[in-house]
Amino acid sequence: MRVEILGSGGAVTIPRPGCDCEVCVEAGAKGRPYERTGPSVFVHGPDVLIDTPEEAKEQLNRSQVGRIRAGLYSHWHPDHTAGRRMWESRNFDFRAFPAEAERTPIYVPARAWAEFERWYGLAEQFRFLERQGTVSVHLLGEGESVDVGGTRITPVPLHDETTFAFLFEGEGTRLLVAMDETQGWEPPDLGPLDLAVLPIGVFELHPFTGERLIPEEFCVPPVKKTRYGQALEMARALGAARTVFMHVEEMDSLSHDQLLELGAMDGWEPAHDGLVIDL
Ligand SMILES: [Zn+2]
Ligand SMILES: [Zn+2]
Repeated sequence: MRVEILGSGGAVTIPRPGCDCEVCVEAGAKGRPYERTGPSVFVHGPDVLIDTPEEAKEQLNRSQVGRIRAGLYSHWHPDHTAGRRMWESRNFDFRAFPAEAERTPIYVPARAWAEFERWYGLAEQFRFLERQGTVSVHLLGEGESVDVGGTRITPVPLHDETTFAFLFEGEGTRLLVAMDETQGWEPPDLGPLDLAVLPIGVFELHPFTGERLIPEEFCVPPVKKTRYGQALEMARALGAARTVFMHVEEMDSLSHDQLLELGAMDGWEPAHDGLVIDL
């Protein structure tokens, strides 16, 4: 398997439009690895795309991705679904009549799909894509796995019960990808992992300057967001051979160089857009 980080940012990407902070200015001037687009991961081998932020089309155009055997969605939040029309851009073709389309199967855990039915008209928009012939939506029940290209993919429910991580098992390799919303999660024993890709959480205090980055009120229970220290505990509980942290928010005020330094101290690697990891 080969993991390609298509987008390593969070809901507020880097640079933030109009922002003149150091992190955004550096990202604007230097591009990758300093700039970060919305959260998306591609797993080569099974050739599976996880989540479609609004930059999904551009991410795919600049990536190593060719064939896409299937799509997965971790949860309904806009930063993970706003680029859903990519499926139409990629798969629709009216040069033939009747129009032809490549139909990509999309797998969504049933409890995550229930939120697609509730929010933003998401389910309706996927039904439109189904009628158009560009996707087919398949719901995964509790504990149900799907086999894609010889790799077994199992949704792992997170604590909020509507967001899922995904466990990939194939050719002797085991990979866990959690895109976001790990708050309150106590990782189950998933066995040995070659790689865990996890959200970094939010930084209550800047790890180098000590500056308070988010108000204390935001951090009292019920915790709305995983904090960095909790993300670190989850990574240690999972005990993967390698841990890569992604979903880096602009509000964290951390440059890629600072993340490299922090990761070297705490035993993980920061993702960046375009990062490729061979397993
Ligand atoms: Zn997110
Ligand atoms: Zn900024």
